[in-house]
Amino acid sequence: MAKPVVAIVGRPNVGKSTLFNKLIGTRLSIVDDKPGVTRDRIYGDCEWLNHHFLLVDTGGIEPYSNDVILKQMRTQAELAIETADVIILVTDIRSGVLASDMEVASMLQKSNKPVVLCVNKCDTVGAPDPEFYEFYNLGLGDPIAVSSTHGHGTGDLLDEVISYFPEDYEDEENDEEVINVAIIGKPNVGKSSLVNKISGTNRAIVSNIAGTTRDTTDTYIENNYGKFNFIDTAGLRRKSKVNDN
Ligand code: GDP
Ligand code: MG
Repeated sequence: MAKPVVAIVGRPNVGKSTLFNKLIGTRLSIVDDKPGVTRDRIYGDCEWLNHHFLLVDTGGIEPYSNDVILKQMRTQAELAIETADVIILVTDIRSGVLASDMEVASMLQKSNKPVVLCVNKCDTVGAPDPEFYEFYNLGLGDPIAVSSTHGHGTGDLLDEVISYFPEDYEDEENDEEVINVAIIGKPNVGKSSLVNKISGTNRAIVSNIAGTTRDTTDTYIENNYGKFNFIDTAGLRRKSKVNDN
């Protein structure tokens, strides 16, 4: 089989992008204090104990929100659920278990995909805070205490992630890298249509993320020619117009 896909999902601001960056080892993903800053999926190659996989950072899930951006992020996460072999649900020890965490957890349970429950922002080493045990209520098994900023617990997290990879999975060590292709141009020249056409005709594995294109939209395509991540940019707009996307 191809490289397993591992998706990171969860509410905005729990630290998904920080975790993604920690695991990837670079700052590919945008991290910000403002909820909902990562609006699109970002892919990166990851390796743990000789297992190679593709890690996906999603924008987040907010099932009860009517807000367009949050709705978009929910769609992205649903697509991640469709594509992923293993899902990491990130929660936040500081906020505890919120209704939306419960909602997301039940969405994931229904997906029948292996889920690894990460309780992030456990910054102190040693016995976790009493609040940690609350996360058992999500019904996703043993939570793993992680500090994405410091890196504690990420080893345990990855151990569990790779434990779900299929037995017969042959690690393609010399797998070709994902080629990032940026599509740029003025609004309405047909950037998205071009990407759609390419993904439609050479479809093998396609994850077309209809993002808000506030920043960029990733479309991951695997075909006979290789692996490509088409980055559809929002177009060159004046700053004041960016929010109208
Ligand atoms: P996302 O919206 O889920 O992608 O969350 P981000 O990765 O953008 O992080 C949101 C905020 O939480 C940022 O200010 C991060 O610095 C902070 N954060 C993320 N992980 C940790 C952690 O392990 N410990 C602490 N103390 N803060 C964290
Ligand atoms: Mg993010």
